[in-house]
Amino acid sequence: MISVTKTRKAAGADKLPAAKSTIQARLARLGLRRDIDFVLHLPMRYEDETRIVPIAEARDQAQVEGVVNDCSIQFRPRRQLVVRMADASGELTLRFLNFYGSQTRQFETALETKTRVRVRGEVRDGFFGREMVHPRYSLVEQGVALPESLTPVYPAGEGVGQALLRTAINRALARMLDQRALSDTLPDAIRTQRQLMEIGSAVRLLHHPPPDVNQQGLLDRSHPAWIRIKFDELLAQQISLMRAHHARRKLDAPALRTPGKKVNQFLQSLPFKLTGAQQRVWSEIRGDLAVSHPMQRLLQGDVGSGKTVIAALAALQAIDNGFQAALMAPTEILAEQHFRKLAQSLETIGVSIAWLTGSLKKKDKTLAQEQIESGAAQLVIGTHALIQDGVIFHRLGLAIVDEQHRFGVGQRLALRSKTLHGQPHQLMMSATPIPRTLAMSYYADLDVSSIDEMPPGRKPVVTKLLTQTRRDEVVQRIHAAAIDGQQVYWVCPLIEESEALQLQTAVDTHAALSAALPDLSVGLLHGRMASAEKAEVMQAFVAGTIQVLVATTVIEVGVDVPNASLMVIEHAERFGLSQLHQLRGRVGRGAAESACILLYQSALSQTARARLRIMHETTDGFEIARRDLELRGPGEFLGQRQSGMALLRFADLQTDQWLVEQARDTAALMLREYPEYADLHLQRWMGGREEFLKA
Ligand code: ADP
Ligand code: MG
Repeated sequence: MISVTKTRKAAGADKLPAAKSTIQARLARLGLRRDIDFVLHLPMRYEDETRIVPIAEARDQAQVEGVVNDCSIQFRPRRQLVVRMADASGELTLRFLNFYGSQTRQFETALETKTRVRVRGEVRDGFFGREMVHPRYSLVEQGVALPESLTPVYPAGEGVGQALLRTAINRALARMLDQRALSDTLPDAIRTQRQLMEIGSAVRLLHHPPPDVNQQGLLDRSHPAWIRIKFDELLAQQISLMRAHHARRKLDAPALRTPGKKVNQFLQSLPFKLTGAQQRVWSEIRGDLAVSHPMQRLLQGDVGSGKTVIAALAALQAIDNGFQAALMAPTEILAEQHFRKLAQSLETIGVSIAWLTGSLKKKDKTLAQEQIESGAAQLVIGTHALIQDGVIFHRLGLAIVDEQHRFGVGQRLALRSKTLHGQPHQLMMSATPIPRTLAMSYYADLDVSSIDEMPPGRKPVVTKLLTQTRRDEVVQRIHAAAIDGQQVYWVCPLIEESEALQLQTAVDTHAALSAALPDLSVGLLHGRMASAEKAEVMQAFVAGTIQVLVATTVIEVGVDVPNASLMVIEHAERFGLSQLHQLRGRVGRGAAESACILLYQSALSQTARARLRIMHETTDGFEIARRDLELRGPGEFLGQRQSGMALLRFADLQTDQWLVEQARDTAALMLREYPEYADLHLQRWMGGREEFLKA
């Protein structure tokens, strides 16, 4: 007996600290570590438990109190617990479709002992009078005091419920107020000028709003307390971005001065004239390169707008000045294509180009690495292999990242640290345009150039939506097009859960189309093929010996085969908007009328329907990006990888644009005149997370 008691005690004794530390770990997962983190963990919404209204007057969300008159389990049509309650003013039915036996017993006891119940929920007029479905309720002794402020509901997490959060947050808030640790990080002058509430009052109000508060303002976050919070959050972001910008301005980079011989030779060799937009961005980039601080510029331009030529010009400017340039692309196919195209035109003007990808043979890789390190290679084109160990540039003057959104933050940073001397300039390119609002708050340390004009003679791609049931008709159509000399992409459905399954689908589709189109040459391209094989298939497609190319999304970015004028995308409903736009951008590159057929499986979800409609309505990448942002919100739009976790918790870039602008002005002012406040403010809001903003 005694020994049993002992072991029990011992087990209980070491369980306690363990439990405490798991709670801490769970809270930490929500970003809650320091007192200030708790204080800034603000409610998503509130419940009003401060007032009880007579049942007869209850509307919408309400709290009422009364006695139970009846309690029974009914079947109409589903099994449900039905409770009738009343106060002096009227009757109310409570309906529970999912319930436990213990709940039934609770109400039965309340009925017998005449214990009062307090109920909160949405009142509606049911068939048998006023009712609430699944209300929240508690049994109360009459006269138990009501809470004095609205009850906050916090963003919770796994194993972290409301009760735990409320206690922890209240403690942290009390502690900080006690220690006067919630001082304002805005100088009074700025706070008054911007008419902002004090931070201490703002957080107190948000955690414990008085019953007479403007509830709508709390909900839609237009209340002055929310404005202060959102302002502070945006301010921290802006200060941090500006600091990064200033830090960059202190670094040295080679001044790559006015274009020399090779730039001019290349311009003269082009079979076309640069568009006005291309000339403009080229002069912006040229200007940056000539300055002795590292350029960090994003070149954005819709699919097919001609970014590659600009990249080549920038690279040549580095080479003309005796430096190396690197061009990194996200896929082997794209890197290969750049290599093939640039090699043709650049080697004739005497540029030595090296090629580096993961799939090179050991011997070739070593050779390439030697040329890169000795400086013998002036332009280096490749994939992620460029940022791997063992690659060191002799004198890298310019790092170009194509389709930058396909790389992670760390990868983008890695390329510029690959050189022995100083810092290179960096040019990032993207066809996924970042709307202005986002650019302002996520990329303040990035200068942006936009190509907003297409090369002349392009005809817009006509987009058709057809249900999957009309696949046979589509096969007939591509047959006719191919006989007519056109080339066709057939894009296989995306299967996110399984790469193996996606591969299988591609193989099956290839077999089926080959059988259905015996007089055509049908090729297959997918990510698992050996690089040599991929290159061979692409070559054959470029040369026109393959007429129909069945492909997975490996062709999504950059691939440029002007004679391809028809694209079919199967199960288009599974793709995201920017992905569809990128895919569609593979056609419409030549002089022929082009079309894109989106096959979809009905019934469509609402967002899938919205996406397809947008694709049908517009081919403008900026417009698509804007509407994508609307559909998905900035967090998802940028993606974790993209934004490096700098996502805003409180401010909303669509509705709070005016605040972004104010925060930006204030950030500049604070850095100039109140640097110590700026430090405090960053400490409070970022607590060491700034690193992410620098990419
Ligand atoms: P993206 O911006 O999508 O990378 P590319 O650089 O691949 O576009 O260019 C698409 C096509 O347009 C290429 O075939 C390129 O040679 C051609 N192109 C680029 N600039 C012009 C121009 N100013 N006039 C005519 N064609 C151009
Ligand atoms: Mg491109």
